[in-house]
Amino acid sequence: MTDFAGLELAQPILRAIADEGYTTPTPIQDKAIPPLLDGRDLLGVAQTGTGKTAAFALPILDYLAEEPGKALPNKPLALILAPTRELAGQINDSFRNYGRYLALRSTVIFGGVSARPQIQAMSRGVHVLVATPGRLLDLMNQGRVRLDEVEIFVLDEADRMLDMGFVRDVKKIIAALPKERQTLLFSATMPKSVQSLADGLLDDPVRVEVAPAATTVEKVEQQVLFVAKDKKRALLGELLKDEDIARVLIFTRTKHGANRVAKHLHQCGIEADAIHGNKTQNARQRALNGFRSGQVRALVATDIAARGIDVDGVTHVINFDLPNEPESYVHRIGRTARAGAGGMAISFCDHEERAYLRDIEKTIRQSVPVMEDHPYHAVEIANDPGTAKRAPQQRQRQGQKQGQRRRNSGRSGRSGQAPRRAA
Ligand code: AMP
Repeated sequence: MTDFAGLELAQPILRAIADEGYTTPTPIQDKAIPPLLDGRDLLGVAQTGTGKTAAFALPILDYLAEEPGKALPNKPLALILAPTRELAGQINDSFRNYGRYLALRSTVIFGGVSARPQIQAMSRGVHVLVATPGRLLDLMNQGRVRLDEVEIFVLDEADRMLDMGFVRDVKKIIAALPKERQTLLFSATMPKSVQSLADGLLDDPVRVEVAPAATTVEKVEQQVLFVAKDKKRALLGELLKDEDIARVLIFTRTKHGANRVAKHLHQCGIEADAIHGNKTQNARQRALNGFRSGQVRALVATDIAARGIDVDGVTHVINFDLPNEPESYVHRIGRTARAGAGGMAISFCDHEERAYLRDIEKTIRQSVPVMEDHPYHAVEIANDPGTAKRAPQQRQRQGQKQGQRRRNSGRSGRSGQAPRRAA
């Protein structure tokens, strides 16, 4: 995960993001924005709540900002199709927020209200049009909207669009788009109908899939304990005196750490085993079987080893070490909320892990309640927000940004202009 500055977005966009209070891209933003800036088509499997609107709005604004020209009457350059008027309205608001320091115009059109203001807005010209299918087709038929200049097309919530019976309208709209364009399709689920729509629509797309963070996270009761690093093992032994912690998965950052924790638990008289990459397949299987059968109460694992673990009835997840990737946190705690069951996740956070906790809380968009009344609670760590900053990940860009933009070639009245920023 990188920060926004590492995503190579234009300064006015970064300023607007800072105004919104965002500091870290969500996983879908992190994964989708770089290929979108490179002009790639994209298939995004993601639900609302993951930050997907910014994942497409930011690169679209960035592209349009490179050569901000006058908006053409009735001819948007970017079209976003959404199934409901609420969603369309929210998307338009997002474009306006993130584009507040840019000289770009956007509008939204949907049914159920007078078409006149929408027609007027279109005739004044907009760069970005957000629309629901029915009203868009009406206005297209009246010649009030023309799609021949569209360079970027987004089909949002494709599964819902089809469920709502918009398939014919959507196909008519797609048929009116120029062949040369960048296309993005987002869908929370991928039934065959959406896949075949995607197959016909997208050209060599990047596929980006994110866990529906919110839904998993919501089911798990989470708590954090601020504790000094050298007290973590004693704290764990103390917590496990509680018999209610019946089947617990404990995560450590390293293999050695996993071994040390398992050994310590043994010494405390707790049935525990470790599972990590240095163990043979047989030893791992034994540990897993023991955990499944209930013989082993505590299984200590690293993230990688835990990937294949699918055990029902895990009552607790304990993050002995916090992961530096917020997505790992979501995956870890999701182990205790299998098949609709709830569960509990307790995280130990030492001084150095404060920055990780901050990133996690941003990703899950909630703060994790602190066990303040626990004897091991370290007030000095709780009160220090932590200043440790992680180095932004180096990103391999696929060639030069401008060079990759196939859309740049034929924009009428715009081609040949020098790009605003060097690639
Ligand atoms: P969406 O999935 O696009 O509906 O976004 C869900 C919510 O997350 C919206 O309220 C956004 O304002 C918010 N959001 C989007 N990106 C970020 C981010 N990087 N950091 C914090 N909040 C965000």
